[in-house]
Amino acid sequence: MKFLFILILCLSWLFEFFLWRIRKRQLHRPFPEDLPDYFDSQTKDLSVSYQEKTGDLRLIHVSVNHVLLLAIMGFDLVFHLVQIFSRWGFQEEAANVLAAFLLAIPFFVNGTVKSAKQVFSVNEKHGMNRTTPRKFLLDVLRSGFFLFLLLGVSTYFIIEGSSQGASLVSLLYFISLVINQRLAFKMTPLPDSGLKTRILQFCEDQHLRFRKILVLNASQRSGQVNALFQGFGRWSRIVLFDTLIEKLPEDEVMAIFAHEVGHAKNRDQRKLILPIILLTIISTILYVSVSKSMSVARAFGFPEPNPVLSFVLMFSLWTPFWIALSILRNPRSRRGEIRADQFAAKEMGKAVTIDALIAITRTNLGVQNPHPVDEFLFSTHPPLHQRIQGINKVPD
Ligand SMILES: [Zn+2]
Repeated sequence: MKFLFILILCLSWLFEFFLWRIRKRQLHRPFPEDLPDYFDSQTKDLSVSYQEKTGDLRLIHVSVNHVLLLAIMGFDLVFHLVQIFSRWGFQEEAANVLAAFLLAIPFFVNGTVKSAKQVFSVNEKHGMNRTTPRKFLLDVLRSGFFLFLLLGVSTYFIIEGSSQGASLVSLLYFISLVINQRLAFKMTPLPDSGLKTRILQFCEDQHLRFRKILVLNASQRSGQVNALFQGFGRWSRIVLFDTLIEKLPEDEVMAIFAHEVGHAKNRDQRKLILPIILLTIISTILYVSVSKSMSVARAFGFPEPNPVLSFVLMFSLWTPFWIALSILRNPRSRRGEIRADQFAAKEMGKAVTIDALIAITRTNLGVQNPHPVDEFLFSTHPPLHQRIQGINKVPD
């Protein structure tokens, strides 16, 4: 049993390494002659260096996490820690919660170091950073608070209520993510402006009633531009990054808005939720069986199943789950993007939609020519030239 989990971890790391290598090679490969190049040489150099540094950081972060997990599993650290805390006189619940906290600390530190390097080294050097050290520290403290609160509460609940606890964990995790996001960013209604008048007119023409059209203060943290369509039916809303409104001309912002409306009209959100629900069910079933299995517990030194051990084991299955989710979700997601682009092109014009897509990719220092593995497995959006091809198929 132990061997199986360690094997999965090693294979996961090998896969991450393979991905890092092919991405890095692809970045330095000369740009294909048959592909249109939408970047000037300065933007291209900046984008290559940004993507490369981001990839390197990711590999370091993932590798440290894998080493930590291997050490925890290989040396039965969960068992030994719970034993130590019990010997110090702590009750079973407290000993488990303390062990979970102690084990989570190195992962949290690793994640924080990675974010700090991304923000203050990589983003800063490439002109993307807008976060101050103070704001960063507050973000770290806030997410740390939620992480450890969640960990404590779920470990306690699982010991108390056994299997009911398992379903609670994912729910609590989701709620904490939403609360954390809400506290980190401010979303305000789009202020009165020429843009707002045009957006409202467009929605009326399309017989659309969004509950809200909001502006997210993304500029507080980075220079990246984006727009999102969130929620379902009556609860749906469109979120525009303030950076998008700031950096793109109004016509292009309208094209991006129309793209998001395209997602709403095609009910793309609903189509993409199915794989997530499916995987949540599978992972819950897996979690419950792991957390009840005597043979798993014994393989890692425990006489009986232990909730902290189950957490650690589920954590080590992250990469396989991520690959499965990508396979199930991304092809559908990419088709949705092309349809949303075509809708925007029909409503706002082809040229302006193409300009807006190019502007976004340039501003975000995106990849124009991803590796085929990336393109088919991990990209939620098709590469720029495919999106432009899609737009050009729209009849005039
Ligand atoms: Zn989209």
